[in-house]
Amino acid sequence: MKEVIVIGGGPAGMMAAIAAKNENNNVTIIEKNEKLGKKLYITGKGRCNITNYKDISEFFPQINRNEKFMYSAFYSFSNMDILNLLNEYGLEYKVERGDRVFPSSDKSSDVIKTFKKILNDKQINLIFDEDIRYIEKADDIFKLYSKNNSFSCDYLVIATGGNSYKSTGSTGDGYKFAKNFGIEVTDIYPGLVGLNLNSSIHKELSGVNLKNVEVTLNKNGKPYKKEFGEALFTHFGISGPTILSLSSLIYPKEKCSLSIDLKPGLNYNQLDDRINRDFNKYINKDIENGLKDLLIKSLIKPILELSNIPRDKKINQITKEERHRLIKNIKGLEFNINDIRDFNEAIITRGGVEVKEIDSSTMESKKIKNLYFVGEVIDVDAFTGGYNLQIAYSTGFLAGSNIKDDCNDN
Ligand SMILES: Cc1cc2nc3c(=O)[nH]c(=O)nc-3n(C[C@H](O)[C@H](O)[C@H](O)COP(=O)(O)OP(=O)(O)OC[C@H]3O[C@@H](n4cnc5c(N)ncnc54)[C@H](O)[C@@H]3O)c2cc1C
Repeated sequence: MKEVIVIGGGPAGMMAAIAAKNENNNVTIIEKNEKLGKKLYITGKGRCNITNYKDISEFFPQINRNEKFMYSAFYSFSNMDILNLLNEYGLEYKVERGDRVFPSSDKSSDVIKTFKKILNDKQINLIFDEDIRYIEKADDIFKLYSKNNSFSCDYLVIATGGNSYKSTGSTGDGYKFAKNFGIEVTDIYPGLVGLNLNSSIHKELSGVNLKNVEVTLNKNGKPYKKEFGEALFTHFGISGPTILSLSSLIYPKEKCSLSIDLKPGLNYNQLDDRINRDFNKYINKDIENGLKDLLIKSLIKPILELSNIPRDKKINQITKEERHRLIKNIKGLEFNINDIRDFNEAIITRGGVEVKEIDSSTMESKKIKNLYFVGEVIDVDAFTGGYNLQIAYSTGFLAGSNIKDDCNDN
């Protein structure tokens, strides 16, 4: 019997353990928390966006870094494979907007319960409250040390997650383990996170949720990427779905700004016509009142300020230049980005164990035999939509299913 240890009881570790279990492998998950899946519990605002229902071939454009590395993993264990597995053990699911899959109960705890059922069924050993601090390998055996105990195994899977939301247990330990084995790790950055803005108006707009807007990320003054959807102003700056995606493209020290098109459905001339119609309707009113059909109330004051138009100016006195400035700001509300928010708020970690260090068809380290890396600890990250969890299950499965004694291959 071979001993397999998986460090980390998140989705990647649980999946690796499930796939590694067979008549030749005794499999144990060692988790530093008192329970499994602490981060999984808070996913999707407590509802867990399990995966995405799109064809697996459509997952690759949703990967921000190293999408090619994911080829074998996604095709070995796809979105349908995880859904079928969870469903076989009783989890009902539903598909929502953007093909996002959630448990029918809207409870992430039901996903965790289902994983627990599978782990129990497969007779996988669980050890809690053991924080692995040091690993060494001698004579083909890995030795793992926590504060008071040590463990040994023939195969080791590192599924320790990234470095964000540290209270869930993901404190970047896997990077340290990799480095101790001489395995390269990239710099790491927060991903899918809000942005600190350098502006006079975001505080005033705090709490305002923009819908159906087009947000452009500019780098060095040039448009770099556009996202359509929602954006939410906060006390620090801006967040919301479009912003989270764009944040994953920003690196420290880059000079970046955002421009928000509040009316992406109308081009300049169409917006001009629309404003003219509204102005005719409210010809004798203050401009502040003349914009109420076009813009949400909270935006009117800041837009007028930025356009340098007094709020109480009568519409019949608005000049062509003023109207032009107004349209320019509605089509491109500009904000300088100070920086991205930190790891405490980041949904994922960008960077991690270098993909060139890992065999993408097995998840085994190229340098250290029988050592595997799975999940967020690897330098792969995706945008929102259930893709990050799929990375965890697919890499976990691929590693687990490749853990077999060479002598027992046939
Ligand atoms: C707020 C939030 C919402 C999210 N929502 C979604 C979503 O809806 N859909 C989606 O696809 N993704 C979502 N994500 C991302 C997703 O949760 C992660 O990508 C995923 O959990 C990574 O899985 P993992 O198993 O690699 O790591 P983790 O889930 O982080 O698990 C790692 C485990 O290893 C344990 N561990 C770490 N170090 C040690 C050690 N030294 N010894 C013992 N144990 C250790 C940790 O305690 C932890 O339990 C969300 C993330 C956050 C923070």
